[in-house]
Amino acid sequence: MNESQHTTAQRLENEARQLDAIDPIADFRNEFYFPKTEEGQDEIYFVGNSLGLQPKITREYVLQELDAWQSRGVRGHFQGDFPWLPYHEFLTDTMSEIVGAQSNEVVVMNTLTVNLHLMLASFYRPHGKRNKILLERQAFPSDHYAVESQIKWHGLEPAQCMLLVEPAPGQSTISTEQICERIHQYRDELALILLPGVQYYTGQVFDMQKITEKAREFDVLVGFDLAHAAGNIPLNLSHWDVDFACWCTYKYLNSGPGSIGGCFVNSRHTGNPDCLRLAGWWGHDKASRFRMENRFSPIPTAEGWQLSNPPILSLAAVRASLDVFKRVGGVGRLRQKSVRLTGFFHECLAQLLPGKVQILTPTEPQQRGCQLSLKVDLRDISGKSVFEQLESAGIRTDWREPDVIRAAPVPLYNSYHEVCRFVIELARLLNAA
Ligand SMILES: *Cc1c(COP(=O)(O)O)cnc(C)c1O
Repeated sequence: MNESQHTTAQRLENEARQLDAIDPIADFRNEFYFPKTEEGQDEIYFVGNSLGLQPKITREYVLQELDAWQSRGVRGHFQGDFPWLPYHEFLTDTMSEIVGAQSNEVVVMNTLTVNLHLMLASFYRPHGKRNKILLERQAFPSDHYAVESQIKWHGLEPAQCMLLVEPAPGQSTISTEQICERIHQYRDELALILLPGVQYYTGQVFDMQKITEKAREFDVLVGFDLAHAAGNIPLNLSHWDVDFACWCTYKYLNSGPGSIGGCFVNSRHTGNPDCLRLAGWWGHDKASRFRMENRFSPIPTAEGWQLSNPPILSLAAVRASLDVFKRVGGVGRLRQKSVRLTGFFHECLAQLLPGKVQILTPTEPQQRGCQLSLKVDLRDISGKSVFEQLESAGIRTDWREPDVIRAAPVPLYNSYHEVCRFVIELARLLNAA
């Protein structure tokens, strides 16, 4: 770094320390385990959008259920502070707050892609020329495959039924206007819209309220994949009147690798026993479930979409994480810090690396969550090698082909100082090139 960059770096570092000192939720960082570098230092962990860190209390919650199994065996279904039969119910209220829903609209079950299929089975009901699903051309592969295979499942042609939206030429994100225009244009042919709440690659927040309003005008159903939105940005699914949504809990919700996901079904549908679905015994009326009479009567809440009795050890990890969210004051409180933290990230990049890093993520705070997606392909150094050198310096970010580094400072456990150190290291690498 040259002298003027050095001065800037020092000023930003001072600013970062001050911001950390007045951060009202800074202490929550101590409630998480950080992976260590070879030198035994905490890694700078900016991949909470991929796998959130482990809360220190998770072990205790999981062990509690192992102990219950050890000491009670099958009686654990009914006995103890957190019996297994209703265990998922202990998660519902906090999870509902996280996505802005009534508690009868939310259930923690299965994993994300499984839930997408269950929701598509209920809410993709092609009839006549109304057989199209609108999604992004750059949708996460699993979402793309789920939609494509559902269309084939109905004996239809993906090429005709997948309506793919993409950024306008020269843009990296899709505007709300573009999406609304498409909805209007295909108003008589659309059966369903499936979009992300936060786009995984660019970090763009979609205007879920506007999109849902537009779809409602033409009786098109709307679902959102909230993998990168749940625990990251405030959501208001009930008020927006979304039909369904699915999310995972291992990203911003810190519940461990492959942990159980969440699902929202609008109360307009949950109360309708005739709503078609793929059914299992765990979705059947709780009072008569064990009579084993084989007359399916769904629970009139989102629980009516459950198939199996759930893996309790995984739910225990979700419960531990949700307790941390509850104590910190929910997503609203996290969002206050997140806007500042990612804003500071943006400012550090602008001041230390003006013109050297292209940011794909929108600048407007309303249109982004924690994550910034950076393109750092310079003439003399490839983005991939920058990414690898960051790794060697103990900084975890995420590489996405062909040329993007995603970095997500998470307000629950990342600090302003870490953001600053990351940008200084990036500046050092890019200047050395
Ligand atoms: C992370 C992610 C997934 C992963 O799906 P799983 O079924 O949990 O493996 C799917 N879709 C999106 C948009 C994601 O970000």
